[in-house]
Amino acid sequence: RPWNFSAGPSALPLEVLEQAAREMTNWHGSGMSVMEMSHRGKHFTQIRDEAVADLRELLSVPENFHILFMQGGATAENAIVPMNLIGRNGAGKADYVLSGSWSNKSYKEAQRYGDIAVAASSGAAAEIDGAQYGPWTWFPAPETWRVRSDAAYLHLCGNETIGGVEFTDWPDMAGLGAPDVPLVVDASSHFLSRPIDFTRVGMVYAGAQKNAGPAGVTVVIVRDDLIGHALPICPSAFDYANVAAAGSMFNTPPTYAIYIAGLVFKWLKRQGGVAAIEAQNIRKAEALYSFLDASNFYITAVHGPVRSRMNVPFFLKDDALNAEFLAQAEARGLMQLKGHKSVGGMRASLYNAVPFEGVQALISFMQEFERQYG
Ligand code: PLP
Repeated sequence: RPWNFSAGPSALPLEVLEQAAREMTNWHGSGMSVMEMSHRGKHFTQIRDEAVADLRELLSVPENFHILFMQGGATAENAIVPMNLIGRNGAGKADYVLSGSWSNKSYKEAQRYGDIAVAASSGAAAEIDGAQYGPWTWFPAPETWRVRSDAAYLHLCGNETIGGVEFTDWPDMAGLGAPDVPLVVDASSHFLSRPIDFTRVGMVYAGAQKNAGPAGVTVVIVRDDLIGHALPICPSAFDYANVAAAGSMFNTPPTYAIYIAGLVFKWLKRQGGVAAIEAQNIRKAEALYSFLDASNFYITAVHGPVRSRMNVPFFLKDDALNAEFLAQAEARGLMQLKGHKSVGGMRASLYNAVPFEGVQALISFMQEFERQYG
């Protein structure tokens, strides 16, 4: 198979796809495909229960957090989060950290549901340690965030998939003068790539289609005290309290997507869990960034300490070579390297299912291309 660097939906482990193929028409002697089973029957209930238990184990999710499987993607969560959380303390306020495309979308959508303020933004150019960085290529330091102490929550995007900015040093909210404000993180594009410190967050959500499985299921991990406060306008199927009470079966869940996600969780356990995959992810990202840093032919724009391990945007100094680069890459089995249209250039997404060998193959192609045209 070629190496797939898509930002999402993205590569899944081959073992998972092969297992799903073997089980496609007859899951574990049931005589049925998972697609054909009642979601309330014993087979699917077992699949759901194992998926929840494996995910809880992988991320050490504390017992006072619910793990929910929902639909609508992270985009729907941009509305579902405020509808569920903004009413929790009567003030109707929420604050947002803006660090790129995805957090901006979350912020815009939330404005429909209450008094929404910007806690911090990297939307302007900045000078950091004497170097210049353009908009959305750095992350505002928590000491600069302005969080209202009566905000219902503070939202940030942990990994900006388009800009390639990752922020994981989540602050202790008490240190920011807002001890009662829970942090809500859109973790879509680095979910399961590294551990999560649940003492620092009230809620994490992620569309599955990067590290966790196919599109169609959204994972929501939410602290117990944050649910049960949905606005009256919140659709019943999107009220976390309803979804939690029904074990993610308030209505028919995306059964096949949950099943595949469950296989991915088991694969991750076989790899040694999240700490082991994080070590792989560090090794992969370091290899690519150190190659890029040493080159005068390729350029990266993101501030070093917040460079994403998952999504590596880079540019050819001579962008007239972009089409040739992509054509030659594809001929070598290096797929989906084109950058997002809003950023241009290239983007290599190094999710969990891309092994170190895939990154080595990319780097050796890039070296050869540089020799040819540099
Ligand atoms: N948030 C982030 C960080 C993303 O990368 C994406 C999609 O790529 C989304 C939100 C939107 O997800 P969805 O398309 O599943 O709604």
